[in-house]
Amino acid sequence: MYNLVINLTSVSLKNISKRFKNAESDAVSNVDLTIENKEFLVILGPSGSGKSSLLRLIAGLEESTSGEIYFGNELMNDVSPRERDVSMVFQNFALFPNMTVFENIAFPIRASGKDTTNLGDEVKRIASLLQIENLLKRKPGALSGGEQQRVSLGRAIIKKPKIFLMDEPLSNLDASLRAELRAEIKKLHKKLGITFIYVTHDQTEAMTMADRIALIKDGKILQVDKPEKIYNSPNQSWIGSFLGSPPMNLIHSVNSGNSLIIASQKINFKSSVKSNKVVVGIRPEKIYITSEKGRLTGSVLSTEYLGDSKIINVKLDDYIIKVKVPNDSVFSNDHVINLDFSDNDIRLFDIDGKHLG
Ligand code: ADP
Ligand code: MG
Repeated sequence: MYNLVINLTSVSLKNISKRFKNAESDAVSNVDLTIENKEFLVILGPSGSGKSSLLRLIAGLEESTSGEIYFGNELMNDVSPRERDVSMVFQNFALFPNMTVFENIAFPIRASGKDTTNLGDEVKRIASLLQIENLLKRKPGALSGGEQQRVSLGRAIIKKPKIFLMDEPLSNLDASLRAELRAEIKKLHKKLGITFIYVTHDQTEAMTMADRIALIKDGKILQVDKPEKIYNSPNQSWIGSFLGSPPMNLIHSVNSGNSLIIASQKINFKSSVKSNKVVVGIRPEKIYITSEKGRLTGSVLSTEYLGDSKIINVKLDDYIIKVKVPNDSVFSNDHVINLDFSDNDIRLFDIDGKHLG
């Protein structure tokens, strides 16, 4: 196992904002976020939500418009990127095409003018950690995408950073390679024992890799929680519809505290929520189709085959509800079916999308 001698570092962002010149709104807006020592934090959000900007602020590649960034207790605002002791890995690998794999990995040490006495051994150890020992003499052009990304990981590791920053490092790889490298990066995190901050728009990456996910939209952090928590108990309906495939069903309903009227059908449902008008959220995989009397009745509109499962689109009044069922279930169109679910799987939001209970 490859051990590094490093200082462990938490990262605290205090009310950080970034507005680019001539922009009408903040790319990053009043972000308060603490990333713990050794944590694997994933910043997840749609394209343009401010993920890269936030990461670049942490790296020191952008200057914040306001707010403070701390590594441990140390204020970093005026510390140069080089002195921040972070390594960053990008989507496009950014390798030097004319250098061999060996030279690419060795580059940060050579460029920094550090002692190169044991550099050869160091590069070999890192290459072995990443299973690319046999590629050291090749140039990037003679490598697959996955191999190139391993090289850029190697180049990031050799700097012995305190913090590892990754910006969509797997987005240029095909699906099976992505799955393989997801696991590799998790292993690397364990071995290196340092703080990882990983940016992605891909919910599968976020769910599988994160200790905690920070959900970002329009430059604002909406929720920071463990993957299970953020998936099961989103604090906003928008998160329910951003996560999950298909996303959470959201239905405008009337709440009395003892009942809900969902798509003109009244069901018993006890809640302490006071609002009369609510949005009911329920995930497609939490709804059951039953031959007994269900709590809701609808008609089958269409069926989508997903391979490992099927989605039944069920018409309830003006709504189309998605229900996820086993892939061998058969329901013909226009068939009237009964739906059931557990009260525990119901989420209530206000009409602005804020979680109520
Ligand atoms: P993401 O990485 O989530 O796709 P970015 O952080 O790249 O989002 O961008 C957030 C917002 O900031 C976008 O509206 C983008 O157009 C804007 N932006 C990013 N970089 C710059 C820049 N250098 N100059 C001006 N606007 C920028
Ligand atoms: Mg980006």
